[in-house]
Amino acid sequence: MTKTEIDRNPSSDFKLSFEFFPPKSPDMDVQLWETVEELSRWNPDFVSVTYGAGGTTKAPTLEAVRRMISVAGLSTASHLTCVDASKRETHEVVEELRNVGVKHFVALRGDPATGIGTAYRPHPEGYENAAALVRGLKELGDFEISVSSYPEKHPESESNSVDIEMLKLKADNGATRALTQFFFDNDIFERYMERVTKAGIKIPVVPGIMPIQNLTQLKRFAGRCGTSIPAFLDERFAGYDDDPAGRANVAADVAAEQIQDLRRRGVNEFHLYTMNRAPLVNAVLENVGFRPARRSAA
Ligand code: FAD
Repeated sequence: MTKTEIDRNPSSDFKLSFEFFPPKSPDMDVQLWETVEELSRWNPDFVSVTYGAGGTTKAPTLEAVRRMISVAGLSTASHLTCVDASKRETHEVVEELRNVGVKHFVALRGDPATGIGTAYRPHPEGYENAAALVRGLKELGDFEISVSSYPEKHPESESNSVDIEMLKLKADNGATRALTQFFFDNDIFERYMERVTKAGIKIPVVPGIMPIQNLTQLKRFAGRCGTSIPAFLDERFAGYDDDPAGRANVAADVAAEQIQDLRRRGVNEFHLYTMNRAPLVNAVLENVGFRPARRSAA
């Protein structure tokens, strides 16, 4: 792999963001903060913390976001879903997040508590979908708003064109960035971007990169998200079932190659799904050729 060194200092042209999820146990809490500390050296442009649909992780998300802003000093976006919540309940959460310093939301519909794939029904007094939530958030404050997008279309979406129309509506309502569902086939992303451009959507669409911690588990999850698994992944991981170190090397190479190929196609912004673990993300970024940010003199 050819490496060009890319400075992660503030002048870097390349933008990086990291996604974390709120911890569910004391051990996971320790792991999250070790990971955040470790990955801070990459000087991410922002980090984000997921939010359990229907408010299931409200307290841990709020606490993680508070700590990332106030203690880790990171520019932090909070994800927020509107499923299974009235507008009043959603606004209360927005206020709580605003009070801990949130200025950037990843505005999402979310999936019903009954699970992905069960029919979505908007709360009778809630926001109908993510586009409506974006509009509502804009009325509540001058927030930066990112949204989701789906290069392989959302699994519930009736067509690619409806999917693109929904992204356009989210942008028209005030979203300034889309973060994609993870994907592994860059040709699919390129074709998607052609449709995005043709639809007149001007906001950056940032590829979501998922380093593969475990291919078998990922396949189950990807199936529910509508992400296809190209045959080359099976080939690359074949023979590493009982070799965790070898598997990790393959995973780092695969994600780094995906990023490098996207860079050759003109992409300079990446959102990494960290799964709250640093080693693989570090290996990916090192393989790409990113150089950690220099620490500023005290
Ligand atoms: P929307 O953008 O509202 O809709 C998704 C699709 O449904 C649209 O693209 C469109 O095809 C269709 N659709 C919606 N409304 C209409 C309509 N009126 N008419 C026709 N079609 C319509 N989930 C969480 O619970 N917590 C998180 O923190 C979280 N973070 C995420 C981050 C990213 C980057 C991504 C890509 C997904 C995330 N999700 C999260 C998952 C997300 O909540 C689910 O994919 C959910 O099913 C859809 O939410 P959305 O905001 O994409 O929905």
